[in-house]
Amino acid sequence: MTDAPRPLQLTMAAPRRGKPPRHLADLTADELAAALTELGEPAFRAKQLSTHYFAHHTVDADAMTDLPARSRQALVEGLLPPLLTPVRELLADGGTTVKSLWKLHDGVKVESVLMRYPGRATLCVSSQAGCGMACPFCATGQQGLTRNLSAGEIVEQVRHAAAALEAGSVAGGPGRLTNLVFMGMGEPLANYKAVLTAVRRFIDPAPYGFGVSARNVTVSTVGLVPAIDKLAAEKLPVTLALSLHAPDDALRSEIVPINTRWTVDEALDAARRYFEATGRRVSIEYALIRDMNDHAWRAELLAQKLLDRGRGWVHVNPIPLNPTPGSIWTASDPKVEATFVDRLRAAGIPTTVRDTRGSDIDGACGQLAAEEA
Ligand code: SAH
Repeated sequence: MTDAPRPLQLTMAAPRRGKPPRHLADLTADELAAALTELGEPAFRAKQLSTHYFAHHTVDADAMTDLPARSRQALVEGLLPPLLTPVRELLADGGTTVKSLWKLHDGVKVESVLMRYPGRATLCVSSQAGCGMACPFCATGQQGLTRNLSAGEIVEQVRHAAAALEAGSVAGGPGRLTNLVFMGMGEPLANYKAVLTAVRRFIDPAPYGFGVSARNVTVSTVGLVPAIDKLAAEKLPVTLALSLHAPDDALRSEIVPINTRWTVDEALDAARRYFEATGRRVSIEYALIRDMNDHAWRAELLAQKLLDRGRGWVHVNPIPLNPTPGSIWTASDPKVEATFVDRLRAAGIPTTVRDTRGSDIDGACGQLAAEEA
């Protein structure tokens, strides 16, 4: 005991610690059955509630008219609590790019970005608050890791976006969410279990998932080799993106520090194994940083390393660096970018420059690669 004055922090709204509240999207079928029993509800409510959530994208008790009025509130409170509170929304590209800032139950903030194109809509989701990978060109990398998100917190980003699109509240009229990319905050393969649970909720058919095509789900990684192999063994045809950013270890260790643990060759070998296990062509992400990694010889070295591992298994997505506040680095000169792309294509490597949707609103986490053109 002490009679010292209470630290200032304690007089402010202290963040709630511990796990987020229980949510439908986190539960296995057995856990959901147990939760329903605990709430005094019959087992068939699992399908009804899941239909409202995954097929209708609603958590509004009043809309659940197939449920007895006395059950609705208890089911929503017990299994569909609000995990994300909107803090701010930023619009770009005539309202077709929407960046959302969310607050989680403990006050931690994360972002997601919706990008609408003719005929498709992509949501860029966060898998962690902050990130532990420390890539110096990435805004999130500068923050360090705060915590992993739960599967429910990841799935809720998607449910919110799907509901907004459907309601017609995004520019372009009512629409459907078609693509999901783990290119928001965090390293998805460093939060493997929650990310895998979320991926299954994305791709499982309604009413137990959103029914998004697996090939339209992209997991982007710095190259955590054992986790890439683990993902390959799941045999889910999701797309893998490897954030390479340099073909040589000397430079890559500087801009993607995990390279000191798994080298360029080890990461590329794992990417190739992923292709063999799933048949899905791997994307190589390459942020073009002026005078840093944008040399023609690096394009040639990259092409060589990819060709050494075969043809037709990979494509490259260069993206102009989105400069982060306070960073000395900037995007490559357009002519240099064009030469880099030409060298890859001349070597026979399919190459698509990614667009820079929402760069005026700092992408998501500052720096989101939009999805491939
Ligand atoms: N941790 C995962 C997901 C991160 S974000 C990963 O590293 O792949 C998705 C992509 O955006 C990654 O390729 C990442 O390197 C890239 N990125 C981060 N900061 C960027 C910036 N300032 N400009 C362009 N791309 C950036």
